[in-house]
Amino acid sequence: MGNTIFTKIINREIPAAIVYETENVLAFKDINPQAPVHILIIPKTEIPTVRELSGSEHGALLGELIDAANVIAEQYGIAEDGFRLVMNCGKNGGQEVYHLHMHLLGGRSMQWPPG
Ligand code: AMP
Repeated sequence: MGNTIFTKIINREIPAAIVYETENVLAFKDINPQAPVHILIIPKTEIPTVRELSGSEHGALLGELIDAANVIAEQYGIAEDGFRLVMNCGKNGGQEVYHLHMHLLGGRSMQWPPG
């Protein structure tokens, strides 16, 4: 585990369009955007999937990810119209990168149910 492409982005070993950064959180543009605004929000610590999370241990960190989403949504002017937050988990969830991340999608109307 660890040393995914997102760790390389955190360590500035590969480039990314970083839009937000705090001590614990980094956010950057998705390289293959699925909406006019598509940002990935990640913890800097290496947590592979949602399954390794617990409210008791990671509650504060999860709160920081949500704070980031709200700040970025305001930054991009999509807060008022609304947006979608997605965390894919594992094979059936469609997770490709095993470093925890939240997708922030906005700037268009979303469909439901997702594919
Ligand atoms: P997921 O399928 O939930 O694991 O999402 C992984 C996301 O990471 C996909 O939307 C990819 O387009 C995105 N991605 C992969 N490599 C990069 C990269 N180098 N920079 C930015 N986004 C990336």
